Formats: sequence, C-alpha cells, structure tokens
Amino acid sequence: MTTLLLTHEACLAHDPGPTHSERAARLAAILDRLSHPDFQPLRREDAPMASKADLLRAHDAAYIDFIFASVPTTGYQPVEVNDVVSDDDGGEVTTLSSRSGEAASRAAGAAIRATEAVMKGEVQNAFCAVRPPGHHALSHKAMGFCVFANVAVAARAAQSLFGAKRVAIVDWDVHHGNGTQQIFEQDPSVTLISLQQLPLWPETGYAAETGCGNILNIPIAPDTPRTTWLQIWQDQVLSRLMAEEFDLLIISAGFDAHRDDPKGSQNLETEDFATLTHDLKRIAELKCGGRVVSVLEGGYDIEASAAASAAHVRALMD
Ligand SMILES: [Zn+2]
Repeated sequence: MTTLLLTHEACLAHDPGPTHSERAARLAAILDRLSHPDFQPLRREDAPMASKADLLRAHDAAYIDFIFASVPTTGYQPVEVNDVVSDDDGGEVTTLSSRSGEAASRAAGAAIRATEAVMKGEVQNAFCAVRPPGHHALSHKAMGFCVFANVAVAARAAQSLFGAKRVAIVDWDVHHGNGTQQIFEQDPSVTLISLQQLPLWPETGYAAETGCGNILNIPIAPDTPRTTWLQIWQDQVLSRLMAEEFDLLIISAGFDAHRDDPKGSQNLETEDFATLTHDLKRIAELKCGGRVVSVLEGGYDIEASAAASAAHVRALMD
C-alpha cells in the first residue's frame, strides 16, 4: 500500500509578510526534500479546494465569509487580534495575501482528500504538505497563523462522508492545538491527545483541560530532556491511544519540538519524528487498519523542519 502526498502551488503563494516566520520557505524546503528519488514511490496529487459545506463542519458561516471577504487583492491583511499575553510569540498574527483564501481552502481540501483516499483504501496513509497550518484556528476566529482547522475539517469529513464513527487525533506540535480542542471539546466521538510546551503561546493545554473526557493534554516544560519527552510519549500518549477505539488516526504534525526550532525549547532530534511515526503506525494497525492521515502544522527552522518532515514521510512509507 502506498503513501499519498498532497500539496499545491497556492500553499507556497500564501504570504503573511516578508518577515513572518510562517513563510513559504518552510514548505519549499519540505517539498525539495520530498523530490529526492527516495520518495519516488509516493503517490502525488494536487490538493483540491474544500467546499463551504466542508468548512461548515468545523467553522461558523460568518467566519468563513469573513475570511474570504478579507483576502486582499494586493498587500497584506491581518485577520487576527493577538490577545494572548505571552512573551514568546513575537507579536506575529495570522495575515492574508492575495492567494491566501485559495491556499487555506486547499490546505483543508488536502486533509479531506487525504481522508477520503485513506478511508476508501486507495492508499494506506497520507501526508498533507500544506500551509497555512490549522490547529490554532477556532470555529469562529483565525489564530496563530491558522485560517481553517484543517485537521478538524478532515475528522468531520471522515465521519460525515467516509464512514468513520470515531476519530483519534494526536498533536505533537510544540504549541497547543487549541483550535482542535475548541472544536471537539463537547464531541465524544473524537479523541484529541495533544502534547505541548508550557509555558508557551497560546498558554492553554494544561492537564485539567479534558473536554468531555475526550481530550488528553500533556504539558511539557521548556528544556525537557529528549529522553524524558520520549518517555512521556510512551507512557502517556501511546498508552492512552491504546485504550481508545477509532476508525482513523489523524496527526497534527508540527516539527517545532525539534531541538533547532526557534519557537520551541524542546530537544527532539530529526530521527525522533520517524520513531513517533512508527509508534503511531503500529497502533493504527492494531486499531484501525493502519489508516493514518498526517497534516503539516508548525516548524520554523527551515532545515530542521524539512529534515524532520522527510523522516516522518519516510516512516509513513515504510
Ligand atoms: Zn507550533
């Protein structure tokens, strides 16, 4: 069985500004790595646009309309007021340029198409190399460089369109997947397991935040040793996932817990992202026929996130 890679040129054209850390070079470096002959067996597709009906499964109609109405013909249009007090966010906000509406729609559309292909058995698993990322986007608000909640939209599509009853989401991005949490905190059909550094923007994701019992938040202190991080992963993430039943596993794959990342203060090595991937694949094989959809979130050291993405995709292909 094959691994599907979804991306689109519009995801490179999305431009939040010349000095913004969520820049096209992140994705360009990942795609450059994935152009290596080692990745020739990947099945590759252009990401389709999500429909408004797709987006409505996770977002308010007024918010979707606001985003598309905010897309500028030239220049930059912020669509977020940064109201989370934190000394480490750099003050950057979600910002749109002329291709950003299409890019956000294709980022969500990639996650939906990946879900369709995996649920229908066309491929074993899939990676969506897309931006803008999604896990901070709330149902009604852009946040943290995220416009549409790509992973949440995909989980809802899996249930509405492709026959999944229960979906599990694992979010290993160094930041809390607060948008995913907000969308599913009253929905027991979706389990969210999210590890995040705290303190760190957006300053949520503490263990007491459990939704309706469907959410496991695992805060990790800054400068946690790599071995400790990986032990927490084994003891808390994998054991909770083994206790769940689900028909599809979705990964919010950020690469900013890498030791070289400028936003996080964690110590994971490139090869650790292959280990995480193999661990999740093994459990997915036990629980859901190996069905895994992975969607790019953060990762702000260009070289580190490209190398870690490549290690992740190679592990998906194994
Ligand atoms: Zn992040």
